[in-house]
Amino acid sequence: AKDKGRNTYAIYDSVIEHKAQARLKLVNQLHEAQEQGRFEMFYQPRYDAQGHMVGAEALMRWQQQDGDYLKPKTFIELLEDTGLIVSVSWQLFRHACEQFKSLMERHKNISLSFNVSARLLEHPEFLSRLKYILDEYKFPYDRLELELTEQTLIQDVTNSQFILNQLTAWGINVSIDDFGTGYSSLSYLKNFPVHALKIDKSFIRDMNEDKDDLELIKTMILMGQNLNITTVAEGVENPAQLQQLVAMGCDQFQGYLFSHPISFTQLETQIESLFDI
Ligand code: C2E
Ligand code: CA
Ligand code: CA
Ligand code: CA
Repeated sequence: AKDKGRNTYAIYDSVIEHKAQARLKLVNQLHEAQEQGRFEMFYQPRYDAQGHMVGAEALMRWQQQDGDYLKPKTFIELLEDTGLIVSVSWQLFRHACEQFKSLMERHKNISLSFNVSARLLEHPEFLSRLKYILDEYKFPYDRLELELTEQTLIQDVTNSQFILNQLTAWGINVSIDDFGTGYSSLSYLKNFPVHALKIDKSFIRDMNEDKDDLELIKTMILMGQNLNITTVAEGVENPAQLQQLVAMGCDQFQGYLFSHPISFTQLETQIESLFDI
């Protein structure tokens, strides 16, 4: 029995070792990708209730050797755990600013949304780096939106509040991403200057089958209206969802119904076409 136990441990150990090796390999690949600039931005358009494109959310992609693009699901956690997210984010932010600068001069209603992870927000140089890059590209502050999750904001409330106040003083917009999924109290909305709420796609997904989700969405939209905060529905996939959301007074929409995340070149060709709502 003793031997058998030892054997089990040996197998168990080798499984762990295998996992650790796979992880290490991926970490190396992520470093390499960062050095070679293989992370890229795709953009998913956002529309208002009249069907005009009002902006786009930058979403990270990792281009593989075969040309395919990998979504962040499989690697974002490791980027965050290793802290690599900080350098990758700045690299991509710079690139997005460069691309959007001239686009925004031609299209006055378009703004850029960028996801900020906790690691980036808590970085001591977050504000100064951000400002430096924006000024370098003469990027208009009021046409940048930073998306932060409730989870990120409540990790260090004092720091978050300080940073959000500064961002707001500069005219940069802040939105709450995945809204409704954090279990934090809503009172923070009073303390944080928030420009938009992005209603999480899990609510939108089931809204036409699940009465509870519909009621929750209604409440979130009403709350936005009362607090004078723009409401954005993410993950809108079909016309029935869109119709309901428009009827409930939701302000803006994003999802596969309108467009998948696309390359910058594709975004440019799509920017002026009106979505028929
Ligand atoms: P997120 O910020 O909530 O982004 C929305 C995700 O939903 C994107 O996945 C997008 O492709 C997907 N999506 C858009 N429309 C639909 C739809 O109609 N239906 C469904 N089912 N999904 C839809 P993606 O690009 O794989 O990104 C996943 C997450 O990775 C993002 O969630 C965000 O948390 C993170 N992420 C992506 N890019 C960045 C980045 O540059 N920096 C940071 N810190 N995080 C990023
Ligand atoms: Ca987001
Ligand atoms: Ca989201
Ligand atoms: Ca999400």
